[in-house]
Amino acid sequence: MLPLNPFGIPDVPDPDGQDVQAFAAQVELPGDDDCMDTEPWSLSRSADDPGTLDGDWESRWYHGPQAWNWEYGVALLQSVKDRIYVLFADERRDYLIDLRRQGNDLLVGRYVNVGNPEDSGPWAGRIEGPERIVGRWAHGRWDFARKVVHETASQRKLRDKLSGLQRHAWVPIVRVGDGDATASKFSGVPWLGPHEAWPLCPHCRQPLQLLLQLNSKTLPPELDSPFGTGLLQVFFCTNKDARCEEQLVTQLPFSPGHYLRLVEPTGTARLLKPPRLTGRAWNLGFAIRPTVGDGYYQTRLITGWKKVMDYPNDDECKLQGITFDANDDTDFHYPLSGDKLAGWPFWIQQVGYPRCRRCGRQMHFVFQIGSGWNLPDLFGDCGRGFITQCPDHKDELAFQWDS
Ligand SMILES: [Zn+2]
Ligand SMILES: [Zn+2]
Repeated sequence: MLPLNPFGIPDVPDPDGQDVQAFAAQVELPGDDDCMDTEPWSLSRSADDPGTLDGDWESRWYHGPQAWNWEYGVALLQSVKDRIYVLFADERRDYLIDLRRQGNDLLVGRYVNVGNPEDSGPWAGRIEGPERIVGRWAHGRWDFARKVVHETASQRKLRDKLSGLQRHAWVPIVRVGDGDATASKFSGVPWLGPHEAWPLCPHCRQPLQLLLQLNSKTLPPELDSPFGTGLLQVFFCTNKDARCEEQLVTQLPFSPGHYLRLVEPTGTARLLKPPRLTGRAWNLGFAIRPTVGDGYYQTRLITGWKKVMDYPNDDECKLQGITFDANDDTDFHYPLSGDKLAGWPFWIQQVGYPRCRRCGRQMHFVFQIGSGWNLPDLFGDCGRGFITQCPDHKDELAFQWDS
Protein backbone atom coordinates (compact mmCIF):
# COMPACT_ATOMS: atom_id res chain seq x y z
CA MET A 1 0.00 0.00 0.00
CA LEU A 2 1.28 3.47 -0.84
CA PRO A 3 2.10 5.59 2.18
CA LEU A 4 -0.32 8.41 3.02
CA ASN A 5 2.50 10.74 4.04
CA PRO A 6 4.04 12.88 1.25
CA PHE A 7 7.63 11.80 1.96
CA GLY A 8 7.41 8.26 0.57
CA ILE A 9 8.46 6.55 3.80
CA PRO A 10 6.43 4.12 5.95
CA ASP A 11 3.51 5.82 7.71
CA VAL A 12 3.20 6.37 11.42
CA PRO A 13 1.07 3.51 12.80
CA ASP A 14 -2.27 4.52 14.34
CA PRO A 15 -1.56 8.27 14.47
CA ASP A 16 -4.92 9.09 16.13
CA GLY A 17 -4.87 6.20 18.64
CA GLN A 18 -6.48 6.25 22.07
CA ASP A 19 -3.17 6.82 23.81
CA VAL A 20 -2.63 9.87 21.59
CA GLN A 21 -6.04 11.29 22.54
CA ALA A 22 -5.42 10.56 26.22
CA PHE A 23 -2.05 12.29 26.07
CA ALA A 24 -3.52 15.35 24.33
CA ALA A 25 -6.31 15.57 26.91
CA GLN A 26 -3.97 15.82 29.89
CA VAL A 27 -0.85 17.49 28.51
CA GLU A 28 0.01 20.96 29.71
CA LEU A 29 1.25 22.94 26.74
CA PRO A 30 3.81 25.71 27.27
CA GLY A 31 2.25 29.10 28.00
CA ASP A 32 2.99 32.51 26.56
CA ASP A 33 4.76 33.61 29.73
CA ASP A 34 7.52 31.05 29.29
CA CYS A 35 10.67 33.16 28.98
CA MET A 36 12.36 30.52 26.89
CA ASP A 37 9.88 31.25 24.17
CA THR A 38 10.91 34.85 23.80
CA GLU A 39 14.49 33.91 22.93
CA PRO A 40 15.16 34.28 19.24
CA TRP A 41 16.27 30.68 18.92
CA SER A 42 15.23 30.56 15.33
CA LEU A 43 16.43 33.28 13.00
CA SER A 44 15.26 30.79 10.49
CA ARG A 45 15.78 30.59 6.84
CA SER A 46 12.36 30.35 5.37
CA ALA A 47 10.71 32.49 2.74
CA ASP A 48 7.54 30.46 2.96
CA ASP A 49 3.96 31.63 2.66
CA PRO A 50 2.66 32.65 6.14
CA GLY A 51 -0.82 31.45 5.09
CA THR A 52 0.19 27.82 5.44
CA LEU A 53 2.36 25.84 7.83
CA ASP A 54 3.99 24.07 4.90
CA GLY A 55 7.69 24.59 4.40
CA ASP A 56 11.02 24.56 6.21
CA TRP A 57 11.25 25.02 9.97
CA GLU A 58 13.83 24.89 12.66
CA SER A 59 13.00 22.44 15.42
CA ARG A 60 14.25 21.75 18.91
CA TRP A 61 13.43 19.23 21.62
CA TYR A 62 14.68 18.10 24.97
CA HIS A 63 14.31 15.10 27.21
CA GLY A 64 13.78 15.61 30.94
CA PRO A 65 12.17 18.03 33.34
CA GLN A 66 14.23 21.08 32.38
CA ALA A 67 15.03 22.81 29.14
CA TRP A 68 18.72 22.83 29.92
CA ASN A 69 19.77 20.79 26.98
CA TRP A 70 17.90 21.46 23.79
CA GLU A 71 18.75 19.38 20.76
CA TYR A 72 18.37 21.23 17.49
CA GLY A 73 17.34 20.03 14.10
CA VAL A 74 15.38 20.97 11.02
CA ALA A 75 11.89 20.00 9.91
CA LEU A 76 9.86 20.00 6.75
CA LEU A 77 6.09 20.41 7.24
CA GLN A 78 3.58 19.43 4.62
CA SER A 79 -0.19 19.31 4.87
CA VAL A 80 -2.36 16.73 3.16
CA LYS A 81 -6.10 17.38 3.66
CA ASP A 82 -6.65 17.78 7.42
CA ARG A 83 -3.32 16.25 8.38
CA ILE A 84 0.12 17.77 8.80
CA TYR A 85 3.14 15.60 8.21
CA VAL A 86 6.47 16.57 9.73
CA LEU A 87 9.82 15.16 8.65
CA PHE A 88 12.28 16.03 11.39
CA ALA A 89 16.04 15.44 11.46
CA ASP A 90 18.70 16.21 14.01
CA GLU A 91 22.27 15.07 14.39
CA ARG A 92 21.37 11.47 15.08
CA ARG A 93 17.84 10.66 14.05
CA ASP A 94 15.00 11.23 11.61
CA TYR A 95 11.40 11.29 12.77
CA LEU A 96 8.10 11.30 10.94
CA ILE A 97 5.29 12.96 12.89
CA ASP A 98 1.72 12.50 11.70
CA LEU A 99 -0.62 15.15 13.12
CA ARG A 100 -4.28 16.04 12.87
CA ARG A 101 -5.56 19.55 13.39
CA GLN A 102 -8.04 19.84 16.25
CA GLY A 103 -10.04 23.05 16.46
CA ASN A 104 -8.26 26.23 15.47
CA ASP A 105 -4.79 25.81 16.74
CA LEU A 106 -4.16 22.37 18.22
CA LEU A 107 -2.11 19.65 16.55
CA VAL A 108 -2.29 16.11 17.90
CA GLY A 109 -0.68 12.91 16.68
CA ARG A 110 2.21 10.51 16.92
CA TYR A 111 5.91 10.49 16.05
CA VAL A 112 7.98 7.54 14.94
CA ASN A 113 11.74 7.21 14.54
CA VAL A 114 12.27 6.45 10.85
CA GLY A 115 15.17 4.09 11.55
CA ASN A 116 13.75 2.51 14.70
CA PRO A 117 9.94 2.10 14.78
CA GLU A 118 10.04 1.09 18.47
CA ASP A 119 10.91 4.72 19.26
CA SER A 120 7.44 6.19 18.94
CA GLY A 121 4.90 8.08 21.04
CA PRO A 122 2.25 10.80 21.22
CA TRP A 123 2.92 14.46 20.44
CA ALA A 124 0.61 17.43 21.03
CA GLY A 125 1.16 21.09 20.31
CA ARG A 126 -0.34 24.47 19.66
CA ILE A 127 0.09 26.74 16.64
CA GLU A 128 1.15 30.11 18.07
CA GLY A 129 1.21 31.79 14.67
CA PRO A 130 2.86 31.37 11.28
CA GLU A 131 6.29 31.38 12.91
CA ARG A 132 5.95 29.24 16.00
CA ILE A 133 4.51 25.90 17.12
CA VAL A 134 5.05 24.82 20.71
CA GLY A 135 4.62 21.19 21.66
CA ARG A 136 5.29 18.37 24.01
CA TRP A 137 6.12 14.73 23.84
CA ALA A 138 5.95 12.47 26.89
CA HIS A 139 9.36 13.50 28.26
CA GLY A 140 9.77 17.16 27.36
CA ARG A 141 9.20 19.91 24.85
CA TRP A 142 9.38 19.65 21.08
CA ASP A 143 8.96 22.96 19.25
CA PHE A 144 9.09 24.40 15.75
CA ALA A 145 9.97 27.92 14.61
CA ARG A 146 10.67 29.78 11.41
CA LYS A 147 10.71 33.25 9.95
CA VAL A 148 8.25 34.20 7.21
CA VAL A 149 7.87 37.24 5.06
CA HIS A 150 4.84 39.41 5.85
CA GLU A 151 4.16 41.97 3.18
CA THR A 152 2.13 45.18 3.49
CA ALA A 153 0.33 46.83 0.56
CA SER A 154 2.95 49.59 0.36
CA GLN A 155 5.76 47.06 0.33
CA ARG A 156 3.96 45.26 -2.46
CA LYS A 157 3.83 48.56 -4.37
CA LEU A 158 7.54 49.07 -3.92
CA ARG A 159 8.19 45.57 -5.18
CA ASP A 160 6.29 46.45 -8.37
CA LYS A 161 8.40 49.56 -8.78
CA LEU A 162 11.56 47.48 -8.47
CA SER A 163 10.41 44.68 -10.75
CA GLY A 164 13.20 45.44 -13.24
CA LEU A 165 15.76 44.67 -10.56
CA GLN A 166 14.18 41.43 -9.44
CA ARG A 167 16.58 38.49 -9.33
CA HIS A 168 16.07 34.98 -8.23
CA ALA A 169 17.94 33.65 -5.26
CA TRP A 170 18.12 30.07 -4.02
CA VAL A 171 17.81 29.32 -0.34
CA PRO A 172 19.56 26.11 0.72
CA ILE A 173 17.42 23.26 2.02
CA VAL A 174 19.49 21.39 4.57
CA ARG A 175 19.58 18.45 6.87
CA VAL A 176 21.74 18.16 9.93
CA GLY A 177 24.77 15.93 9.44
CA ASP A 178 27.55 15.49 6.90
CA GLY A 179 27.54 13.89 3.45
CA ASP A 180 30.41 12.71 1.30
CA ALA A 181 33.52 14.80 0.76
CA THR A 182 32.25 16.43 -2.43
CA ALA A 183 28.78 17.33 -1.12
CA SER A 184 27.53 20.88 -0.78
CA LYS A 185 27.52 21.68 2.94
CA PHE A 186 27.96 24.13 5.74
CA SER A 187 30.89 23.10 7.94
CA GLY A 188 31.85 19.40 8.06
CA VAL A 189 34.59 17.56 6.22
CA PRO A 190 35.78 19.32 3.04
CA TRP A 191 37.14 17.64 -0.05
CA LEU A 192 40.94 17.71 0.11
CA GLY A 193 43.29 16.28 -2.51
CA PRO A 194 45.38 13.18 -1.78
CA HIS A 195 48.39 15.23 -0.67
CA GLU A 196 46.64 18.15 0.93
CA ALA A 197 46.59 19.05 4.59
CA TRP A 198 43.77 20.81 6.38
CA PRO A 199 44.26 24.54 5.75
CA LEU A 200 45.71 26.49 8.67
CA CYS A 201 45.46 30.13 9.60
CA PRO A 202 48.70 31.97 8.75
CA HIS A 203 48.44 34.00 11.97
CA CYS A 204 47.58 31.49 14.72
CA ARG A 205 48.62 28.32 12.83
CA GLN A 206 45.37 26.68 13.97
CA PRO A 207 42.89 24.91 11.66
CA LEU A 208 40.54 27.12 9.71
CA GLN A 209 36.83 26.47 9.96
CA LEU A 210 35.08 25.29 6.77
CA LEU A 211 32.18 27.69 6.39
CA LEU A 212 30.84 26.48 3.09
CA GLN A 213 31.51 24.02 0.33
CA LEU A 214 29.42 24.22 -2.84
CA ASN A 215 29.57 21.58 -5.55
CA SER A 216 28.63 23.01 -8.97
CA LYS A 217 26.92 19.69 -9.79
CA THR A 218 24.41 20.04 -6.96
CA LEU A 219 23.26 23.59 -7.74
CA PRO A 220 19.94 24.48 -9.39
CA PRO A 221 20.39 23.56 -13.11
CA GLU A 222 18.86 26.81 -14.34
CA LEU A 223 21.68 28.75 -12.66
CA ASP A 224 24.11 27.21 -15.15
CA SER A 225 27.33 26.94 -13.10
CA PRO A 226 27.22 30.34 -11.40
CA PHE A 227 30.84 30.17 -10.28
CA GLY A 228 32.35 27.70 -12.79
CA THR A 229 32.73 23.98 -12.21
CA GLY A 230 34.05 22.00 -9.27
CA LEU A 231 33.94 22.81 -5.58
CA LEU A 232 33.86 26.29 -4.17
CA GLN A 233 35.35 26.15 -0.66
CA VAL A 234 35.42 28.88 1.95
CA PHE A 235 37.58 28.49 5.06
CA PHE A 236 37.73 31.09 7.81
CA CYS A 237 39.64 31.51 11.10
CA THR A 238 37.40 31.56 14.18
CA ASN A 239 40.18 31.54 16.78
CA LYS A 240 39.31 34.04 19.50
CA ASP A 241 42.42 33.54 21.65
CA ALA A 242 44.72 34.82 18.93
CA ARG A 243 42.24 37.58 18.01
CA CYS A 244 42.54 36.65 14.36
CA GLU A 245 39.38 38.59 13.56
CA GLU A 246 41.06 41.87 14.55
CA GLN A 247 44.65 40.98 13.69
CA LEU A 248 43.84 39.77 10.19
CA VAL A 249 40.85 42.10 9.67
CA THR A 250 38.71 39.19 8.57
CA GLN A 251 35.90 41.61 7.80
CA LEU A 252 37.68 42.74 4.62
CA PRO A 253 37.99 40.85 1.34
CA PHE A 254 41.31 39.07 0.73
CA SER A 255 42.14 38.88 4.47
CA PRO A 256 44.78 36.20 5.18
CA GLY A 257 42.27 34.79 7.71
CA HIS A 258 40.25 33.45 4.75
CA TYR A 259 41.06 30.68 2.36
CA LEU A 260 38.86 30.35 -0.71
CA ARG A 261 39.34 28.25 -3.76
CA LEU A 262 37.66 26.64 -6.72
CA VAL A 263 38.90 23.07 -6.99
CA GLU A 264 38.10 20.17 -9.31
CA PRO A 265 37.66 17.11 -7.06
CA THR A 266 39.73 14.62 -9.05
CA GLY A 267 41.73 11.74 -7.65
CA THR A 268 41.05 10.13 -4.32
CA ALA A 269 39.84 12.50 -1.67
CA ARG A 270 41.85 12.65 1.49
CA LEU A 271 39.21 12.03 4.12
CA LEU A 272 40.64 14.02 6.94
CA LYS A 273 38.78 14.20 10.16
CA PRO A 274 38.63 17.83 11.20
CA PRO A 275 41.75 18.38 13.35
CA ARG A 276 41.12 18.98 17.03
CA LEU A 277 40.55 22.52 18.14
CA THR A 278 41.21 22.04 21.85
CA GLY A 279 42.88 24.46 24.20
CA ARG A 280 41.62 27.66 22.65
CA ALA A 281 38.55 29.81 22.66
CA TRP A 282 36.67 29.59 19.41
CA ASN A 283 34.11 31.98 18.13
CA LEU A 284 30.95 29.95 18.47
CA GLY A 285 28.69 32.82 17.56
CA PHE A 286 25.11 32.28 18.50
CA ALA A 287 25.74 30.60 21.84
CA ILE A 288 22.40 28.91 22.23
CA ARG A 289 22.95 27.04 18.98
CA PRO A 290 24.85 23.78 19.23
CA THR A 291 28.23 23.11 17.76
CA VAL A 292 29.84 19.82 16.97
CA GLY A 293 32.99 18.72 18.68
CA ASP A 294 35.30 21.26 20.21
CA GLY A 295 34.77 24.46 18.31
CA TYR A 296 33.44 23.38 14.95
CA TYR A 297 30.06 24.50 13.75
CA GLN A 298 27.28 21.98 13.32
CA THR A 299 27.46 20.34 9.90
CA ARG A 300 24.48 20.88 7.65
CA LEU A 301 24.28 19.08 4.36
CA ILE A 302 22.62 21.01 1.52
CA THR A 303 20.06 18.66 0.01
CA GLY A 304 18.24 21.05 -2.30
CA TRP A 305 17.38 24.64 -3.12
CA LYS A 306 14.29 26.76 -2.79
CA LYS A 307 13.86 29.40 -5.47
CA VAL A 308 12.75 32.79 -4.15
CA MET A 309 12.58 36.39 -5.35
CA ASP A 310 15.09 38.94 -4.26
CA TYR A 311 15.59 42.69 -4.62
CA PRO A 312 18.52 45.02 -3.88
CA ASN A 313 18.70 47.28 -0.83
CA ASP A 314 17.88 50.98 -1.22
CA ASP A 315 21.49 52.12 -1.72
CA GLU A 316 21.99 49.57 -4.42
CA CYS A 317 18.61 50.51 -5.98
CA LYS A 318 19.86 54.11 -6.21
CA LEU A 319 23.06 52.93 -7.88
CA GLN A 320 20.82 51.12 -10.34
CA GLY A 321 19.01 54.36 -11.15
CA ILE A 322 15.87 54.02 -9.02
CA THR A 323 14.71 57.19 -7.26
CA PHE A 324 12.55 57.00 -4.17
CA ASP A 325 9.92 59.54 -3.22
CA ALA A 326 8.05 60.22 -0.01
CA ASN A 327 5.29 57.77 -0.95
CA ASP A 328 7.65 54.84 -1.16
CA ASP A 329 7.75 52.64 1.88
CA THR A 330 11.41 51.69 1.83
CA ASP A 331 11.02 49.67 5.01
CA PHE A 332 11.43 46.59 2.91
CA HIS A 333 12.13 42.97 3.74
CA TYR A 334 14.52 42.61 0.82
CA PRO A 335 17.26 41.77 0.16
CA LEU A 336 16.64 38.47 1.96
CA SER A 337 18.85 38.43 5.02
CA GLY A 338 19.78 34.77 5.36
CA ASP A 339 21.81 32.17 3.53
CA LYS A 340 21.31 32.29 -0.21
CA LEU A 341 22.90 31.54 -3.52
CA ALA A 342 22.67 34.42 -6.04
CA GLY A 343 20.16 37.25 -5.64
CA TRP A 344 21.27 40.54 -4.08
CA PRO A 345 23.65 40.97 -1.13
CA PHE A 346 22.21 42.32 2.11
CA TRP A 347 24.80 45.11 2.51
CA ILE A 348 24.62 46.66 5.96
CA GLN A 349 27.12 49.54 5.89
CA GLN A 350 27.52 50.25 2.21
CA VAL A 351 27.49 48.58 -1.18
CA GLY A 352 30.93 47.01 -1.18
CA TYR A 353 31.74 44.70 -4.08
CA PRO A 354 35.50 44.13 -4.13
CA ARG A 355 37.55 44.57 -7.28
CA CYS A 356 39.55 41.79 -8.91
CA ARG A 357 43.20 42.07 -7.97
CA ARG A 358 44.22 41.11 -11.50
CA CYS A 359 41.89 43.00 -13.84
CA GLY A 360 40.23 45.57 -11.59
CA ARG A 361 36.70 44.49 -12.54
CA GLN A 362 33.97 44.66 -9.94
CA MET A 363 33.43 41.18 -8.58
CA HIS A 364 30.07 39.40 -8.79
CA PHE A 365 28.01 38.28 -5.86
CA VAL A 366 27.89 34.49 -5.48
CA PHE A 367 26.62 33.56 -2.01
CA GLN A 368 25.49 35.16 1.24
CA ILE A 369 25.94 33.62 4.68
CA GLY A 370 23.48 35.02 7.21
CA SER A 371 23.95 35.28 10.97
CA GLY A 372 22.76 32.28 12.92
CA TRP A 373 20.93 30.63 10.05
CA ASN A 374 22.78 27.51 9.03
CA LEU A 375 26.01 28.66 10.67
CA PRO A 376 26.05 30.09 14.20
CA ASP A 377 28.66 32.73 13.35
CA LEU A 378 27.28 36.23 13.86
CA PHE A 379 29.96 38.07 11.84
CA GLY A 380 30.21 40.90 14.33
CA ASP A 381 26.72 41.77 15.46
CA CYS A 382 24.14 40.01 13.29
CA GLY A 383 26.31 40.61 10.25
CA ARG A 384 26.35 38.94 6.86
CA GLY A 385 29.16 37.19 5.02
CA PHE A 386 29.48 37.58 1.25
CA ILE A 387 31.31 35.46 -1.30
CA THR A 388 32.19 37.20 -4.55
CA GLN A 389 34.10 36.25 -7.68
CA CYS A 390 35.66 37.99 -10.68
CA PRO A 391 33.51 37.19 -13.74
CA ASP A 392 36.66 36.78 -15.85
CA HIS A 393 39.04 35.19 -13.36
CA LYS A 394 37.11 32.38 -11.73
CA ASP A 395 39.90 31.68 -9.25
CA GLU A 396 39.71 35.24 -7.93
CA LEU A 397 37.33 34.68 -5.03
CA ALA A 398 36.69 36.81 -1.99
CA PHE A 399 34.94 36.59 1.33
CA GLN A 400 34.01 39.59 3.45
CA TRP A 401 31.55 40.37 6.16
CA ASP A 402 29.58 43.42 7.13
CA SER A 403 27.69 44.17 10.33
ZN1 LIG B 1 43.82 32.38 13.19
ZN1 LIG C 1 39.53 39.64 -12.95
